Amino acid sequence: MYFCIRDDDTNFFTAPEDLERVYGEVGPWGPISLAVVPFQRAGTSGAVPEKFRGRWSVHPLHENQPLVDYLRTGIAQGYFEIMLHGYYHDELHDRREFAHGNELAQRIADGRRYLEELLGTTIRVFVPPRNSISRQGLRAVARAGLHLGGTAGVRSGWGPLSPKTWSLWLRLRHWRRGGGVGVPWILDLGDHHEIAGNAVTPTTRIQHNEAIFEKTLTMGGVFCVATHYWEQDAPSLHAGDPSVGEHLRRLIDRAVSEPRIVWRSVGDIVSNHQLVV
Ligand SMILES: [Zn+2]
Repeated sequence: MYFCIRDDDTNFFTAPEDLERVYGEVGPWGPISLAVVPFQRAGTSGAVPEKFRGRWSVHPLHENQPLVDYLRTGIAQGYFEIMLHGYYHDELHDRREFAHGNELAQRIADGRRYLEELLGTTIRVFVPPRNSISRQGLRAVARAGLHLGGTAGVRSGWGPLSPKTWSLWLRLRHWRRGGGVGVPWILDLGDHHEIAGNAVTPTTRIQHNEAIFEKTLTMGGVFCVATHYWEQDAPSLHAGDPSVGEHLRRLIDRAVSEPRIVWRSVGDIVSNHQLVV
């Protein structure tokens, strides 16, 4: 089974210690794929400190030099992969940047070039803010030659005229009707690939993720965690369940103790043609 970790929301307000606290010891085991916001707008994101929330000011990543240095070092050591996580991330009136926005292709091109030059890296994956994307947004992702972190689906952008759309739709429907949980494959939409995230947040249940994990392991599929560094201390909303950090830790412990698991970056896994359906 292929395993990866996607962590969303690194931005101007992120301190190196915030990432180090969660992933400092994990680095030698496998890479962490960070979905980074190039020009964070201080709206309602949980990654924006409370005193800045709702100011709507724009904060470019390069104004946080300690973070830039930390990311560059981590990338050079192979600990971090950088993915593009929107452009501003937050929009007024809680509009979802890549579900409704304008000039999405331009934002992808500019945000990607900015991060690639600032951090000295290559970006292969786009993760939509709030996991929300439109047909227009998805087309912009594919035209940029990027893959999608997350699954758009028929309602959020898969081309209705593409035979790929309907063969995948049928396959997933069949999988779910047979009791399948999660999406244990890389989805090939023709002009891009998509990789589902298994959310590790206060609302998700560890039993559910463990069930997906074990099933995927028996199939030799793909299991990708999707979490937020800023939420690791949060308790679960389900009584008796572990905190977000403990939930993540248990999945990582399981992954590193299992010899059948190959831990790679999101970009490596999503672009692997042998894992697609
Ligand atoms: Zn986000």
